Amino acid sequence: MQKVYDTAIVGGGIAAFTAALTAKNLLLDYVWLGERSDKLRLAEKVTNFPAVTGTGADFAAALQAQMEAEGLVLTERRIDGVFRTGGFYTLTAGAENFLSKTVILATGVESKGVCAGEKEFLGRGVSYCAVCDGALYRGKKIAAVISSPKFEEEAEYLAKFADTVYCVCLYPVSCLAGENIVVLHKTPTAVSGGSHVDALLFGEERLEVSGVFFLKNSAPADALVYGIGMDGPHVRVGRDLSTDLAGVFAAGDVTGRPYQYAKAAGEGCVAAHSARAFVRSMGKN
Ligand SMILES: Cc1cc2nc3c(=O)[nH]c(=O)nc-3n(C[C@H](O)[C@H](O)[C@H](O)COP(=O)(O)OP(=O)(O)OC[C@H]3O[C@@H](n4cnc5c(N)ncnc54)[C@H](O)[C@@H]3O)c2cc1C
Repeated sequence: MQKVYDTAIVGGGIAAFTAALTAKNLLLDYVWLGERSDKLRLAEKVTNFPAVTGTGADFAAALQAQMEAEGLVLTERRIDGVFRTGGFYTLTAGAENFLSKTVILATGVESKGVCAGEKEFLGRGVSYCAVCDGALYRGKKIAAVISSPKFEEEAEYLAKFADTVYCVCLYPVSCLAGENIVVLHKTPTAVSGGSHVDALLFGEERLEVSGVFFLKNSAPADALVYGIGMDGPHVRVGRDLSTDLAGVFAAGDVTGRPYQYAKAAGEGCVAAHSARAFVRSMGKN
């Protein structure tokens, strides 16, 4: 029988960190699944978080030390889907999956935004996961819209299958090279197609492709969690950080502005308390 956690925390920033710390202190059986946030390191100087006076890198180092002192465990995984299965949620990371009674979504927001058609064509030529879907495009021409150099490895992975990978880099300098890799430095305006993707558009210009991979820190939450209610680009939440899906909570930038460490940390804490209340209510049924 596969283990069922009380809560699965998805994300690698301050909201997820605080949710994990609170879950641990509340004695929840948690699994923390995420990729570490760049945003913690990037601040030049943090002046608006209690007791933090240094750079973002100092802040990240202090959190790392606290993780070790408290025995917090981050399982570094990219979650590519969250589904309701029976009484629980299944979270998938490629071929691996995790079962949990509740989910805390702390996946942040993508600063480079969402391209027109990106969400509409999800599963019909648009993907966020090179490892999951790369093999589907064997011998085909595809595009990878890459938001940061750290995703170049995923684009190279796609090149193992595809005829040609057009790497649309949304940052100035790329190290990508390969026989079947074409690097482009321009901003896409839309994904187009009929029943399936047939092109990536740059204004009037069409790049004919069979698929488009968006390789970025945070996919839209409704692309990750089927059926979650949105309020524009953010997850719709109540004061207890509950979403429209029973047992799914959200915290941090993913729930909306202000985009600040203190707001994200506070929401991570509240979301963990709400997850605990939910788990307890399940026990009474
Ligand atoms: C340059 C810069 C400077 C900033 N300076 C300040 C400042 O001085 N003060 C301040 O208050 N705020 C500052 N901010 C804002 C602050 O960084 C954010 O508000 C905060 O980091 C949000 O935390 P979060 O945990 O919600 O999201 P994030 O920090 O964005 O973390 C989300 C994490 O989840 C991971 N993730 C996403 N999807 C998945 C998935 N499917 N599976 C696994 N992991 C996933 C992402 O990779 C990321 O690591 C700054 C932001 C930037 C960009």
